[in-house]
Amino acid sequence: MATIEVGRMCESPGCDAPAKLQCPSCIKLGIQGSYFCSQECFKKSWKKHKVIHQIAQGEQTSEVEKEYNPWPSYRYTGRLRPFPQTTPRTVPKHIQRPDYADHPEGVPISEQRVKGASYIKALDDEEMEGMRVACRLGREVLDEAAKVIDVGVTTDEIDRIVHEACVERECYPSPLNYIQFPRSCCTSVNEVICHGIPDTRPLKKWDICNVDVTVYHRGYHGDLNETFFVGEPKPEAKKLVETTWECLQKSIEIVKPGEKYREIGNVIQKHAQANGFSVVRSYCGHGIHSLFHTAPSVPHYAKNKAVGVMKPGHCFTIEPMISQGSWRDEIWPDNWTAVTIDGLLSAQFEETLLVTDTGVEILTRRLNNNGRPYFMDQIGAQ
Ligand SMILES: [Zn+2]
Ligand SMILES: [Zn+2]
Repeated sequence: MATIEVGRMCESPGCDAPAKLQCPSCIKLGIQGSYFCSQECFKKSWKKHKVIHQIAQGEQTSEVEKEYNPWPSYRYTGRLRPFPQTTPRTVPKHIQRPDYADHPEGVPISEQRVKGASYIKALDDEEMEGMRVACRLGREVLDEAAKVIDVGVTTDEIDRIVHEACVERECYPSPLNYIQFPRSCCTSVNEVICHGIPDTRPLKKWDICNVDVTVYHRGYHGDLNETFFVGEPKPEAKKLVETTWECLQKSIEIVKPGEKYREIGNVIQKHAQANGFSVVRSYCGHGIHSLFHTAPSVPHYAKNKAVGVMKPGHCFTIEPMISQGSWRDEIWPDNWTAVTIDGLLSAQFEETLLVTDTGVEILTRRLNNNGRPYFMDQIGAQ
């Protein structure tokens, strides 16, 4: 489809002359729009216009941020605030849905039937192929989200892209209605550890934003996430995100038949601690196949008591959440958004893994750019 070049009009109130001049600060900050017809109109609008720059740089709170406060008595741990959500999205009926999609409380009945059991299913050839396909499609969906992440883009817009990319690929976005989660992916900004709900907050320069995508395709779930920089990162954020990525890579390296699931946490915590960071304990990796979350439970912290030994055909995620300060978390009154108790940053990376006869297959691996994560592209790392 061709794009139509829309005639720009001057942003100065009351002036609707055609506009070709773009605000240089907006260009630098990556803010879309902001065209003026003349230097004069630009100067006239400056006092009002510059607020956009301040909001994008986190120096000012926007009007919405000041006025929208759904939980007046809740004491936030950090600076992030919830923004209004848009109307719910739906999935066309011809796409195969997991059981919880149509349950009034979003209860995954099939998962609950085996809850608490430590038996880990080994997939047969057909099931492994089903997982390969679902995971490859999940990766494609995250690749689509990665293209749009930028200063000024809302997490709701990311959710829309994810939702539409799922539908185009005949996938149901697994988070949607899972225990009543309201959106199609999780977007976790700054102090949000995981399960952030996409809303109308525009991303700001220096934010870090994790996008967690899970798709359900022809009976199988594929689950992955990456943390992205919004604009140039601050050095502390850069080190945290790099370390978190390394934690995931080092833990994947030990995956092979005969390895104990509890070893994964030892590898992750060792590397996190060596860099001065802590490991979140409330959320774990999980078995995944026809069920979204099942055995094994895969803690990311050291000296854990995880049950089980890896065998060919096991499918599970590793998804370390690494925090700048305390490892402790609390949950916003929306009952989903997990934040650090000190309001400091937390980062995460996730892949879905298949244990093979000799080692591991990273089912959700990035297939372009030598498989390196997006944050490295963003900082132009070697
Ligand atoms: Zn995930
Ligand atoms: Zn997961």
